[in-house]
Amino acid sequence: MKLILLGAPGAGKGTQAKRISQHYDIPHISTGDIFRANIKAGTELGKKAQEYMERGALVPDALTVDMLLDRISQDDCTSGYILDGFPRTIPQAERLTEALAAMGEDIDAALDIEVPDEVIVERMAGRRVCPDCGSSYHVVNIPPKKEGICDVCGAQLITRRDDAPETVLSRLATYHDQTEPLIEYYQGRDKLITVDGTTGLDPVFEEIIEKLG
Ligand code: AMP
Repeated sequence: MKLILLGAPGAGKGTQAKRISQHYDIPHISTGDIFRANIKAGTELGKKAQEYMERGALVPDALTVDMLLDRISQDDCTSGYILDGFPRTIPQAERLTEALAAMGEDIDAALDIEVPDEVIVERMAGRRVCPDCGSSYHVVNIPPKKEGICDVCGAQLITRRDDAPETVLSRLATYHDQTEPLIEYYQGRDKLITVDGTTGLDPVFEEIIEKLG
C-alpha cells in the first residue's frame, strides 16, 4: 500500500497518517518531521530548511526530493508507506511518479483531506505538539489528559514556531499556490480520493479506510 496524503497544513494529515500507518502496518513518512529532526540535530540540511520553514515557505525541491526518494528506498518501505507532506509541488509529484515508474511501481491512492481555510486558522492557533514523539493536540478539540503534557511520552508540549498566526497565513497561501494543483494532477491519474476533514478524528479515519477498501 503506497499512499499520499494531500491537504492544507492543519487538515489533520499527521494525525490520520499515524492511524493509517498502524492500520496497514506501513511506515509513516513526514518530510516536515524529517526536517524538524534535522533542525533539532543541528545538521546542515536542518539549517537550510529552517530558513524556509520559519517564514511559511517550502523548502526547495533540490533539498527535498532526493531526501524523500532515499527514505522510500529503505528496507522498511518494501511493502508500502504513507507519505505525509510530500509531494507538495507538481515537480515533486512528477519526480516521485518517475522514480516509481522506473521500478515498475506506482502509488495506490492520493487522499485529499478537505478543510476550509477558516477552520484551519482556528485549528492551528490551538495546536500543541510533542517535541519528542510528534503527537499532536488541540487546546480545545483534542486536549491532552494533563494540560501541557504529552499523553504518550510525558514531554512538555510546545507550539510549533511555524504555527504563529502570520506564518499560518503564508503557509496557507503557499498551499493554495503550489500544493493544491496536485489535486488535479492525481485526479488526472485516477488516484484521487477525497475525504471531508471536518467531521472529527474518528469519522475522518473511518471514511479513509472505507474509501481505501
Ligand atoms: P509539515 O510538518 O508537513 O507541515 O511541514 C512543515 C514545513 O516543512 C513546511 O511548511 C515546509 O516549509 C517544509 N516542508 C515539509 N515537507 C515539504 C515538502 N515536501 N516540500 C517542501 N517543503 C516541505
